[in-house]
Amino acid sequence: MPKHQDEAAGFSYWETKGWLQDLDAVVVGGGIVGMSAALHLRVNHPDWHILILDCTTLGGATTRNAGFACFGSPSELLEDWKQLGAESTVDLVKMRWEGLRELRQTWGDDAIGYQACGAIEAFTDADLMDACNEALPDLNEALTDVLGHPPFEASTKNVEAGLIQLKGIIKSPLEGALDAARMTKTFRQQLHLKNISFLAGHQVQSLKHSHDEWTLVTNEGTLAARKVLIANNGWASELLELDVEKAPNTVVVSQPLAGLTLKSTVHHDRGYVYARELDGRLLIGGGRNWNCANEEERISKLKAWAREHVTGASDFEASVQWRGYLGVGSTRGPILRDLGNGLYAGVRMGGMGVAIGTVVGRNLASMV
Ligand SMILES: Cc1cc2nc3c(=O)[nH]c(=O)nc-3n(C[C@H](O)[C@H](O)[C@H](O)COP(=O)(O)OP(=O)(O)OC[C@H]3O[C@@H](n4cnc5c(N)ncnc54)[C@H](O)[C@@H]3O)c2cc1C
Repeated sequence: MPKHQDEAAGFSYWETKGWLQDLDAVVVGGGIVGMSAALHLRVNHPDWHILILDCTTLGGATTRNAGFACFGSPSELLEDWKQLGAESTVDLVKMRWEGLRELRQTWGDDAIGYQACGAIEAFTDADLMDACNEALPDLNEALTDVLGHPPFEASTKNVEAGLIQLKGIIKSPLEGALDAARMTKTFRQQLHLKNISFLAGHQVQSLKHSHDEWTLVTNEGTLAARKVLIANNGWASELLELDVEKAPNTVVVSQPLAGLTLKSTVHHDRGYVYARELDGRLLIGGGRNWNCANEEERISKLKAWAREHVTGASDFEASVQWRGYLGVGSTRGPILRDLGNGLYAGVRMGGMGVAIGTVVGRNLASMV
């Protein structure tokens, strides 16, 4: 660590004057939720000093996800339907769909690299496929009002879809895919234009309230703000008592594969496994429900799935791989909470935070 960055060194006069003094609001976490919240705060409070702190240099799940613009595959929604009931399942889809629409309408498809490619659920389990096909009329009926169109089309012809060796597929034409980096850059440009500071490399280690302000201790020094918005997803329980924790999620991208014909995004096994074409390569990720001894075993199972079921991927080798962290808890759905004294939390985005992140960020800001 460079000498000037040890904890005891403190902030310089210029650093304090330029970024850290008279802060009206500090947002902890610079992912899609934190950035959306800060931008909405600016709309409501044009004169506020707003600062985002993030402990990483590039980002968390927002720059490490798979870029699916999705609202739930049939088997995933069927599981929700059984566990949470029809109404809560429809509410979840509604929030995801509104979030995706807001994301696209706010920035435009080009600025977030959006492709309206549709999605496929790929079945290797005949019983699961039968259960989904049986539930399809109910799912379609319940979701048509929300989506303006029945979301799912049953189909067993999977040859043209770029997949092989399956029991069948269900198409979901309303879903799409986006470019996580392009989206994040678009947000950050807007933060800059709106005079919202974003400081990377600052980890908030504790929070304390006294005399109408919050003191935040970070790895770089201590600062104070009137309002604090917690938007650090799975890490929030390190700062506050909230029902959220980090869950690792693995992604692998292949070498360029000339024979790929896959156009849509792919969901498999209740959303736990996902795949898509990316610049002539295949991205595959997930499998956190698989009972694997370690990440290496999970990666090798993901590669094996790709080789067996994706046309043109029989010699899939990992050229890039990474891990990111989801924010999950004992139940689905985000935590949006006013914790009192000017402290607010918008965390626990689960596996579809790209879809719901803008809505959660907006609602977080509107509580302030
Ligand atoms: C591998 C993977 C694949 C995924 N694929 C998809 C997908 O295809 N589609 C989809 O909709 N969703 C997907 N998700 C989920 C989605 O990416 C997340 O739900 C969403 O990005 C969460 O946004 P966020 O802003 O809440 O959290 P994050 O983007 O994780 O942002 C939280 C930020 O807080 C920072 N932070 C943490 N603690 C502190 C602290 N103490 N002080 C300062 N900063 C802190 C972190 O560095 C991080 O940048 C995926 C997630 C992963 C991990």
